[in-house]
Amino acid sequence: MSSEFRRIVPEGGKVERLETGFQFTEGPVWNVKGGYLLFSDIPGNRIKKWTPKDGISDFRAPSGKSNGLTLDRKGRLIACEHANRRVSRTEEDGAIVTIASHYKGKKLNSPNDVVVKSDGSIYFSDPPYGLNPIFGTLEEQELPFCGVYRLSPDGNDLSLLINDSVPNGLAFSPDESLLYIADTEMNHIRVFDVKDNGKTTNGRIFAEISGEPLAPDGMKVDSEGNVYVTGKGGSGCSIQKGEGLGLSQSLNYLQTYVGEIEIGRPFTSQPGLLYIGFVST
Ligand code: MG
Repeated sequence: MSSEFRRIVPEGGKVERLETGFQFTEGPVWNVKGGYLLFSDIPGNRIKKWTPKDGISDFRAPSGKSNGLTLDRKGRLIACEHANRRVSRTEEDGAIVTIASHYKGKKLNSPNDVVVKSDGSIYFSDPPYGLNPIFGTLEEQELPFCGVYRLSPDGNDLSLLINDSVPNGLAFSPDESLLYIADTEMNHIRVFDVKDNGKTTNGRIFAEISGEPLAPDGMKVDSEGNVYVTGKGGSGCSIQKGEGLGLSQSLNYLQTYVGEIEIGRPFTSQPGLLYIGFVST
């Protein structure tokens, strides 16, 4: 363990299992105002709610086999829905509206992860992992690529940012000048500069661990700019520290449970507190 890792994850820090019994969990998001956690159970077709006092309950079922969840600047829930092949927003009156479902007349693949920038623009990834009956719906892929998209703050312009990979997890740096994009298939994380117009440029490799199955999925960035990334391969969650021009160092892994684990998406709700969604099999 490096001393830097130990500064972030103190000696004796424990992994606590909140609940179990789910099929495949993803997309945890903490609602600060409401004091509760939401996360997706994708095959279970549910968004679950957890509070420290009352534990687990159903928040929404069916959920469109939702995956990534986040909140926009007004606290509205933004959900990537595999089965409905859309990104939705839950309005303050409870109505669920589609904010993105097609690109140039063709259905999106299956939106996976979503982040909201401080100007209200919404970035999401669109790999094909939901085009099967367990994790989404058994339908044809219409778009010949997997994109990362930006929806303008007014919701009227959906721009394709990249289409040269199979993007999965997304995260901004604290000042939003960088966008991290995880590619599970390529076993790496790329980082892009975010231009003033919200478009991305200058993509380069940020994290690539040779010889180790990083297989990155969900990511979160803390206030210092450390990147927390979940991955498969039994390694749990690693912390990547940016160093100079796109180079990174794996500080070390948070070891979780023995046996095989599927990791969802981590996030930090406050300093020193990290939630990770996963199922053990
Ligand atoms: Mg994902």
